[in-house]
Amino acid sequence: MSSNPEEQLDQTEPHQVQVPPHPQWPPLSEGERAAAMARIKQMMQEQNAVLVAHYYVDGDLQALAEETGGCVADSLEMARFGTTTDAETLIVCGVRFMGETAKILNPEKRVIMPDLAATCSLDEACPADAFSAFCDQHPDRTVVVYANTSAAVKARADWVVTSGIALDIVRHLHGRGEKILWAPDRHLGHYVQRVTGADMLLWNGACVVHEEFKSFGLQRLKKLHPDAAVLVHPESPDEVVDQADVVGSTTALIKAVQELPNEEFIVATDDGIFWKMHQLAPHKKLISAPTAGEGATCESCAHCPWMAMNALQNLETVLRDGGNEIHIDPAVRAQAVTSIQRMLDFARERDRRGG
Ligand code: SF4
Repeated sequence: MSSNPEEQLDQTEPHQVQVPPHPQWPPLSEGERAAAMARIKQMMQEQNAVLVAHYYVDGDLQALAEETGGCVADSLEMARFGTTTDAETLIVCGVRFMGETAKILNPEKRVIMPDLAATCSLDEACPADAFSAFCDQHPDRTVVVYANTSAAVKARADWVVTSGIALDIVRHLHGRGEKILWAPDRHLGHYVQRVTGADMLLWNGACVVHEEFKSFGLQRLKKLHPDAAVLVHPESPDEVVDQADVVGSTTALIKAVQELPNEEFIVATDDGIFWKMHQLAPHKKLISAPTAGEGATCESCAHCPWMAMNALQNLETVLRDGGNEIHIDPAVRAQAVTSIQRMLDFARERDRRGG
């Protein structure tokens, strides 16, 4: 039980997650890389396909998305972008829940991914049956789930949120006097609870990447770089969040690098984000926040093993050979679309008001 009376953490044991090793992609020469990019672009054109990439995937994929009229974004923008394009095929370079969200919002489109095994520790730690039973035990609570969940979990939820909109939605619900059941990330849930003061019951899940950032190592690094601004994603533990100059979604952290006057930044999120930060602020120095380090207990070391399953090589394979298409049970889709659409409508209204 938290010391905060408005917050409770589910006391059942967290679901165990099997973390895969990082895939080792054979390096491509400059010529091979350019040739692969050209073949992929050709196939994308032939298949009327557009690429939607997350900030955490390989820089080549982010570049390809931008060069071909696709989008590089956080999960909220990825969801929005899919609904605005006329392309018949959406290629989602990210993790599975992102592909599922794209399919839920665009059932008429073909949605493919380089590797369907690219999942997420939060999604894995929140099986739909167990989660549904948990919800049944707390019928008085509004069910808010993070986007990093399966379609079946979203189907059980009242609201879906991303880290970019979680605070605003929970504040809104709290303002209406609603008590919240939150899943699956306990760190993000705890952060949202602290900021909004809402009454929240938290599912006991965590991101294997962000949970590895170490408070003590960060203190030491800050001493070595006293002028650096510390940027932290709120999936990180409390003691790391408490040392941040900026806490926010991937989009918020990228904006901070562009807008803050600091020359150096210590960044506590997946280091795939450095590609976009370098692109937008090439003169700023970026330092990865410390994890336990390879060979220690660190399973992720600031780079998500599932995001790393996306590469030029398997993108080319899926475009050439087909397969890896996302399918969603129509009954699940019909329920999940409501909670996702609620978030998108809320976001549109928030943006319209300039919030
Ligand atoms: S970085 Fe964490 S939250 Fe994001 S996909 Fe990987 S495991 Fe999931």
